[in-house]
Amino acid sequence: MSALNITLLAGGVGGAKAAEGLAKSPYASSTKIIGNIADDDEFHGLWVSPDIDTLIYSLGDQIDRKQGWGRKNETYQALKELKALGQDTWMTLGDLDLATHVYRTNLKRQGVSASEITEQLAKRHDVCVPILLPTDDVVQTRVKTPQGWLSFQEFFVREHCQSDVLDIEYHGIADAKPTSQALEQIANSDLIIIAPSNPIVSIGAILAVPEIQQAVEKSGAYIIAISPLISGKTVKGPADKMLESAGKSIDSTGIYDCYRTFLQAMVIDCVDQEDVAWLQAQGLDVLVTPTLMKTPEEKTALLTKVVEFALSSKKQRAA
Ligand code: GDP
Ligand code: CA
Repeated sequence: MSALNITLLAGGVGGAKAAEGLAKSPYASSTKIIGNIADDDEFHGLWVSPDIDTLIYSLGDQIDRKQGWGRKNETYQALKELKALGQDTWMTLGDLDLATHVYRTNLKRQGVSASEITEQLAKRHDVCVPILLPTDDVVQTRVKTPQGWLSFQEFFVREHCQSDVLDIEYHGIADAKPTSQALEQIANSDLIIIAPSNPIVSIGAILAVPEIQQAVEKSGAYIIAISPLISGKTVKGPADKMLESAGKSIDSTGIYDCYRTFLQAMVIDCVDQEDVAWLQAQGLDVLVTPTLMKTPEEKTALLTKVVEFALSSKKQRAA
C-alpha cells in the first residue's frame, strides 16, 4: 500500500489554522498545502504575498498570534519613514516582514519562480509541511464596489471590507498556468481537505486557476470541507458579503454550493447541527464538532478528527 497523501487547500488566516493543526497532527508528514496567491499585490515596489506569508509565519511560529498575520516582535521604523515621505501606508508592513518582501521581489526580478521563492522562505522559517502554489503566474482578485473596482487589499485592508460587493474577478486567471507540482499533488491525493477559508477569494481563486478544479474533480480523492461559517457568521473577514454577491446563501448550503461538483463531506460546528439532514440528503458525510480554533490544541484536535473521520468514511464508501 502506498503512503497516505493529504492535500490542504488553504487561504490566509483560516487556512493557516488548519495548516497548523495538520502540522502538529500524526498526519504532518503525509500533508502538502496548496496556498492562495490571488491576494498578492505590490507595495512600495515590493511584491507581497499575504496568504503565503501567513502560512509560512504561522507554521514557523513567527506569526503575531494576536493579529493572526504579520511577524511577532515586529517594529515599524521603515513604514514610519515611508509615511514621512508622503507614501500611503495603510498596508501595515513591519520591518521584519519587509525583509521577506525585499527578498521575494529581488528573486522574482532575477527570474526565480514564486514556487521556488516560497520554498526558500519556508526553509528559512523551518516549515516542514511543503507549501505549493496553484500557479507561478500573477493572478489578482479584484472587487467591484459601488465606488468602482478595487484591488483585493484596497477592499480588505484600506476599506476594512466596508463597501458592498457587486462582483469579483480574478485578473489574469485565463492566462495562468497551473504548476506541475500542484497538479501532481492533487492527482496523487487520497484526501483533499478544504480549510475553513473564504470560499470565494481564497479557495475559489485556487480552484479558478485553469485545470486545478478539474484535477480536483478527477483526483478520486475523498474531499472534505471545513465550513468557515459558524451559525451563519464568519469568524473574521468578508466571506459572508462575498457569498451573498455570488448569489449563495450565508450558511452550510452556500458553502456546499461552492464545492458541490466534487465534495464528499463537510465539517460543521455543533451550533449548526440543524443543517445535517439537508447536507446528508445531498449525499454528503457530515462531521459535527466544535470548529472554532483558538488554541494550538484546538487546531490539532480538529484537524486530527477531520482526517480520521474522512479516512473512515472513505473506507465505508468503498465497502
Ligand atoms: P484570509 O485569507 O486571511 O482572509 O483567510 P482565509 O480565507 O484562510 O480564512 C478566512 C475565513 O476563515 C473566514 O471566513 C473565517 O470565518 C474563517 N475562520 C477563521 N478562523 C476560523 C476558525 O477558527 N474556525 C472556523 N470554522 N472558521 C474560521
Ligand atoms: Ca487572503
